[in-house]
Parts: sequence; structure tokens; C-alpha cells
Amino acid sequence: MNRRTFLKTSAISGCLLGAGALYWPNRWKYIVVHHSAGNFGTIEFLQRVHRERQAGDPVDAIPYHYVIGNGNGMEEGEVGSDWRQRYAIWGAHVSGRNMDRNLRGIGICLIGNFDIDPVPEGQFVALVELTKALMSKYQIAAEEVSGHGHTDGEQTNCPGRLFPMERFMKEIA
Ligand SMILES: [Zn+2]
Repeated sequence: MNRRTFLKTSAISGCLLGAGALYWPNRWKYIVVHHSAGNFGTIEFLQRVHRERQAGDPVDAIPYHYVIGNGNGMEEGEVGSDWRQRYAIWGAHVSGRNMDRNLRGIGICLIGNFDIDPVPEGQFVALVELTKALMSKYQIAAEEVSGHGHTDGEQTNCPGRLFPMERFMKEIA
């Protein structure tokens, strides 16, 4: 490669790299809400569960971008995350039928099993605040925010039958 071609190639790769560095952390288009289906949870605990249940995942981190505590392990309403969120890695929180929602969807997991228990108020308020902040930061429309089981193609009760979906959608609208 001569010098001129080299310079041209470098400039193009530089631009692509720059565009990528801009695109990757700002690509978020969806938000998907989950529950952990267990009454206790911390970041470390969910990392361990993920390691056991999704052993094939090369990303050793919680499958979600954010976790919100229920007062058992984490404070009620406490928002936590690990390096999946820090480095804007894709998520592993919906099925293969919705890969775009894994790649460009922010996964938020509430600790708790809302098939059995109602969502504690402090945890719900924290979810609404976090969701609204993310929507405004990444310009995500309310139609792109869903509960896991309310997402087309997904077959699950997550985030639980008792999760107040109507109230949630109203509060983020
Ligand atoms: Zn889920």
C-alpha cells in the first residue's frame, strides 16, 4: 500500500471508528422491564445465577443493564449495574426471536417475584424515574418500552402478573 492509499485508508477507518464510538453507546432504542422471579437479589447473586443458567454467554455479567432492589439484598429502590451497563454491552434478557431488543434494548430487572408479591412502592417509583431518565437521554419513545412478556414474540409472565403495567405505561407516557 502506498502512502496515499495508507492515509486514505487510515482516514476512513478513523471515521468508521469515530462513528462506531458514537453509535455504540447511543444506539439504545428499546427498554424492556423484567422481574428476577426471586425474592432476594444483589448484583453478585444475579451474576452467579447468570453464570449457571446461561453458561454459554461469553459476557460474564448480569444479563440486564440495571437492577432495582426490593429491600432484600439491595435497598428498596436502589439502582445497581455492572460492567455490561458501564461498557454498553448488548443484553441477554429476551429470547432469540427479539435479538434487536437484546442488542439495542436496555434491560431493567426488578428484584422480586411479582407473580406472588406486589411491587414495593419505592421500587416502582425508582423504575419510573430510571425509565424516564433513559427515555429522555436516548430519545426512546413510550411505544418502545415494554414488559418482557408484553413484547411481541416473548412467552413469559415476566415481569409478573401483579406488575402494574397499566399504571407504569401511564406514568412514563
Ligand atoms: Zn424477563
